[in-house]
Amino acid sequence: MSAKILYGKDFAALIKEKVRFEVDKMIFKPGLAVIIVGENPASQVYVRNKHKTCEELGINSKVVALPENTTKEELLNVIDELNAAENIQGILVQLPLPDAIKAHSDEILNRINPLKDVDGFHPMNVGNLVIGNPKLVPCTPAGCLEMLDLAGIEIDGKRAVIIGRSNIVGKPMLHLLMARHATVTVCHSHTKNLAEITREADILVAAMGKPKFVTADMIKPGAVVIDVGINRIAPKKLVGDVDFDAAVEIAGAITPVPGGVGLLTVAMLMKNVVTATKLQIGV
Ligand code: NAD
Repeated sequence: MSAKILYGKDFAALIKEKVRFEVDKMIFKPGLAVIIVGENPASQVYVRNKHKTCEELGINSKVVALPENTTKEELLNVIDELNAAENIQGILVQLPLPDAIKAHSDEILNRINPLKDVDGFHPMNVGNLVIGNPKLVPCTPAGCLEMLDLAGIEIDGKRAVIIGRSNIVGKPMLHLLMARHATVTVCHSHTKNLAEITREADILVAAMGKPKFVTADMIKPGAVVIDVGINRIAPKKLVGDVDFDAAVEIAGAITPVPGGVGLLTVAMLMKNVVTATKLQIGV
């Protein structure tokens, strides 16, 4: 058996088409501000990609590039200005922050107006997700759910297993799947007998950041495998958390890396800009 391969670009195109349609209907162009502090090359690539996608979809994009030695107070002031700016509906701070202010990441992210928090990291947005009233949801797990829906994969009543319990992927993924009536287990670095648990999964989400860790024997035949991991194993070689070549022979459907859920994250960010705009104008 060879799994159906779920290519991110196909789903990202569908999401972007819907965003474009929504933006075109709006009486003003929404604006996204992306703050980048320092010169992390990977972050610069992500920020350029976000800027390009905004342009493609008719969203105003403002990149605020701040020097490496920006202080916490300076960054908080920039966020305050953007919170007050009428032409900005979405704000995100590109992570990771430089070492000197990294320890203040929570305080910095929590300063963003929750209605403009398009990354969905503010405690108010986290709380809304947990109580089953999601507003702005973290883009990567939201993209995984959207992909399952667009691919017509049933979630209700299924057994789902998530490997990884981060605030960015694992935990929101738990709440998204649970809200859709899956029975969900979250595994992490202290989980015993991991393979026994993953073999029960109809839907397996790997978000651990360990190259090719999930081997074919950890997958139930026919399972849907969503690989969130992005691991650079050589200068030009990215792999996921799943051993794709072996897993594709046993899974029912599987996302590749690169070319899988990674491509959905930016599309979902654009969707969140539309959602944030609607929340702010009260529709
Ligand atoms: P993280 O480091 O914050 O969390 C990793 C999680 O994996 C932890 O909860 C840890 O307990 C768990 N884990 C680690 N080793 C384990 C093991 N041996 N067994 C079971 N669990 C284990 O990482 P993150 O931010 O959640 O990211 C996870 C991966 O997803 C990374 O590769 C990251 O690059 C990728 N990622 C991709 C996107 C995207 O596609 N756009 C977005 C975010 C993260």
